[in-house]
Amino acid sequence: MANLKCNACGGTYNTTQRDGTAYFHQCPAEIITTPASSTASGAGAGEVREQRTAIRDENIRRGIVYVDGKPHKFVPNPEERNQSLLVPGEAGIISEGDGVSQLD
Ligand SMILES: [Zn+2]
Repeated sequence: MANLKCNACGGTYNTTQRDGTAYFHQCPAEIITTPASSTASGAGAGEVREQRTAIRDENIRRGIVYVDGKPHKFVPNPEERNQSLLVPGEAGIISEGDGVSQLD
């Protein structure tokens, strides 16, 4: 359980949700800014959307399976076509973004 601040989007979060399950932060893909002067002219007016360049995605990379608590991945078997081997692999998140800062 840790309180963290995402250095990419500025979001703050706890790694454990209220129900006890783990939370995996993912930055919003877009940065949406709305000039204060445009609020009276209707929704979306003057809204500026930019793609975020550094996205943190704490979801676990695909293709990783755990065997006896250790990360493994499937790789093609060089000796048997159409078969795969399960070998030790490195667990990790999809993208670090700009990292995180510890809040407490
Ligand atoms: Zn973020």
